Amino acid sequence: MLLELVTIPCLKDNYAFLMHDDASGHTTLVDVPEATPILNTLAARGWHLDQILLTHHHSDHIQGVPDVVAATSAPILGARADAHRLPPLARALAEGDSVQIGPEQAQVLDVSGHTLGHIAFYLPVSGIALTADSLMTGGCGRLLEGTPALMWQSLMKLAALPGETLICSGHEYTTTNLRFAATIESDNPALIARTAKVAKARAENRPTVPSRLSGELATNPFLRARLPHVKTLIGMPDASDAEAFAEIRSRKDKF
Ligand code: ZN
Ligand code: FE
Repeated sequence: MLLELVTIPCLKDNYAFLMHDDASGHTTLVDVPEATPILNTLAARGWHLDQILLTHHHSDHIQGVPDVVAATSAPILGARADAHRLPPLARALAEGDSVQIGPEQAQVLDVSGHTLGHIAFYLPVSGIALTADSLMTGGCGRLLEGTPALMWQSLMKLAALPGETLICSGHEYTTTNLRFAATIESDNPALIARTAKVAKARAENRPTVPSRLSGELATNPFLRARLPHVKTLIGMPDASDAEAFAEIRSRKDKF
């Protein structure tokens, strides 16, 4: 039985996610950028919120927590490494832990790089990975706390998941991300096709999140840093994967 996944637009360009199991009535929320759209979605569906999972400490992912907790009393689970800068945790998580989501066990992955202590949740049965600001749709988070090597390691953990995995990133940044991707690999047919699909979705005001990992592997310039022809395109044919990633990340910072 697969969980139902609901993507909730919040603030200007953030996303929160609900996962719901019909049989047990269980509902889990991942990240809380803003309380109102989340509480409205719960009310519209008649769902009771059982728990809140947090990916990292940035305010655009946690600032709605007090209002959602006031309305639902849901317990909060987040990274032990971030406990000092998250709302009070009912349970502190680290890589290797699992979290029960209805009938399914989600695996906790450390995907530090954007921040230190950023975690992702992977649900192998439903094929969902909640990656927030680590692996993003067409891109990856800025390196605000971690090194390029650390982020590279985190991205490679996610890249190793099954291709059909749905990547739930925390923001609607896809249009800009793909515009940047074209500065690296303008001739990539998968990128050209995806850019057209994304333009159509955005013109119709549809989210481009979640995306399939297979599509990220085919178009996301950060995951593609390890490919010899991409290293050549950026003028670093002999670079290590992490060095090529660092170069692409620093170009994106200036884009
Ligand atoms: Zn962030
Ligand atoms: Fe964010």
